[in-house]
Amino acid sequence: MEQQYIRNFCIIAHIDHGKSTLADRLLESTSTIGLRDMKQQILDSLDLERERGITIKLVPVKMNYTAKDGREYVLNLIDTPGHVDFGYEVSRSLAACEGALLVVDATQGVEAQTLANAYMAVDQGLEILPVINKIDLPSSRPEYVIREIEDVVGLDCDHVILASAKEGKGIDDILERVVEKVPAPLGDREAPLQAMIFDSVYDNYKGVICYIRVVNGRIRPGQTIRFMATGGVFPVEEVGVFRPGFQPCDELAAGEVGYVVSNIKTVAEAHTGDTITDNGRPAASPLPGYRKVKPVVFCGFYPVERDDYPQLRDALEKLTLNDSSINFEPETSVALGFGFRCGFLGLLHMDVSKERLRREFGVELVATAPNVVYEVVTKDGGLIEAHRPSDFPEIGEIQEVREPVIKISLFVPTEYVGKVMKLCQDKRGTYVSMDYLAPDRVRLVYELPLAEFIIDFHDKLKSQTRGYASLDYEFIGLKAADLVRVDVLVSGEAADAFSFICHRDSAYYRGQAAVRKLKELIPSQLFEVPIQASVGKKVIVRQNVKALRKDVLAKCYGGDITRKRKLLEKQKEGKKRMKQIGKVSIPQEAFLAFLQVE
Ligand code: GDP
Ligand code: MG
Repeated sequence: MEQQYIRNFCIIAHIDHGKSTLADRLLESTSTIGLRDMKQQILDSLDLERERGITIKLVPVKMNYTAKDGREYVLNLIDTPGHVDFGYEVSRSLAACEGALLVVDATQGVEAQTLANAYMAVDQGLEILPVINKIDLPSSRPEYVIREIEDVVGLDCDHVILASAKEGKGIDDILERVVEKVPAPLGDREAPLQAMIFDSVYDNYKGVICYIRVVNGRIRPGQTIRFMATGGVFPVEEVGVFRPGFQPCDELAAGEVGYVVSNIKTVAEAHTGDTITDNGRPAASPLPGYRKVKPVVFCGFYPVERDDYPQLRDALEKLTLNDSSINFEPETSVALGFGFRCGFLGLLHMDVSKERLRREFGVELVATAPNVVYEVVTKDGGLIEAHRPSDFPEIGEIQEVREPVIKISLFVPTEYVGKVMKLCQDKRGTYVSMDYLAPDRVRLVYELPLAEFIIDFHDKLKSQTRGYASLDYEFIGLKAADLVRVDVLVSGEAADAFSFICHRDSAYYRGQAAVRKLKELIPSQLFEVPIQASVGKKVIVRQNVKALRKDVLAKCYGGDITRKRKLLEKQKEGKKRMKQIGKVSIPQEAFLAFLQVE
């Protein structure tokens, strides 16, 4: 296809504003898929995505469209993941396009991710076409939303399209506007090959499939290609386009979007953002914007049945075949036995991965509460990456502790501003700015420790604003903070599993809560058991579990011998699950409660 008749575009929107529904309508109206074959929301192909109504993996699609000018165009629609965890993937899919439809819900207006995505599209130099969706709803306020788009996003809305993806209104206007306004791709088809990978998936039959946008040159089977960031060299086995589904073709040339199969074994060798070039005639430089994504949120995955450990490892290996942003390594836990420490891009990414292990691989697992990684600078100049409290050196050896920090923007109705500010402050947030988007809506920006964000920020925000706030965040780096390791001592012995990292100011409060919790969880022993919390050598909290002879049979006076036996059995079972710390036996439940395992 000649470049002048190609349009590469994507749809960006805040979650639930109608991106997937609109995409379906576009496919339908260009007859890309027959109505009968039409599964609900074809672009969100993982079951889980459909269930949660969010797009995680991007599946592009090629549409043919005969415009009012009588010419046939190829429209490549590249769906973008709809969640902040996947910001880098969003930016790469945007980089594969020349234009973007910015979809805004006519009843909700501009939300945090509308703005974040729109800014990203502006940064990529895309032509942005505003679309106001859901105008069929009685509560829609298109005039109001137009003003918001102009004032808050700063986009000209003279040619805004009013649409209802649900009722199929405005769909033809959108297709015409894409043809008219989105620039045709530039790029030199005779220059050395430069193709950007904007995603890669693992397929049981074809192996790794890279989704690419050819920027310069051509790519065809038989050619030997090189991945510029990783240095890998492979022969091209197949190239093709998305119909949806994979349809092989002879060649992909500058301006075109498609896929390439080249005998790569794992997606880890095909990084999103990497540039593919011709090995014999390489491009002088890679395309801009490549970076390697790094997990920032970690948690432990353990099999429910200990014998299932190999099965869990297998499943994790298969999952990472398809998602190279997950990493995992073996770890052991006092309470949970053998498992894996896994790293994710964010909380949703973690939840989704957990679900996929359950559903796609049938693995039942327990997950520990998420945590972040700290950087500890020691007095002798060393640098430690601390994944768990036990990685922290003695307090006297620590020069500085650094923690990951995010910049969070919150769109909040004015009536909740006070509550949201309080929440951010409670979470050790640093105020950055506040501006009015409209008389009744405010944008608040804070810097927030990621560790505080991943605990329960979403839930608290939701409950305190009755769901009327939206948020977007980006990772901004590591910052020094006065963090300490709080140790919990049972009968004078530090129990690794109970230590935690927190800010010095909350060490007392959190230490107290921990000791109180343990006091309830540890059954009385034959002797008194002191439980203490300490920072360094300094004890900050102390409570005792009173000595008591636990006589389970005392409960059943009367003479039912079978009942007595059952109780004794139960007690024996309980004992099996006890762990010894020093001379104190602690039930497994205590460890589980501490790990906040679900
Ligand atoms: P996404 O998260 O942006 O992909 O949004 P979806 O396409 O999944 O839509 C979110 C919800 O809004 C779904 O329940 C859709 O049925 C509904 N929806 C989408 N477009 C319209 C529309 O034009 N009118 C109405 N009334 N509902 C819509
Ligand atoms: Mg969607």
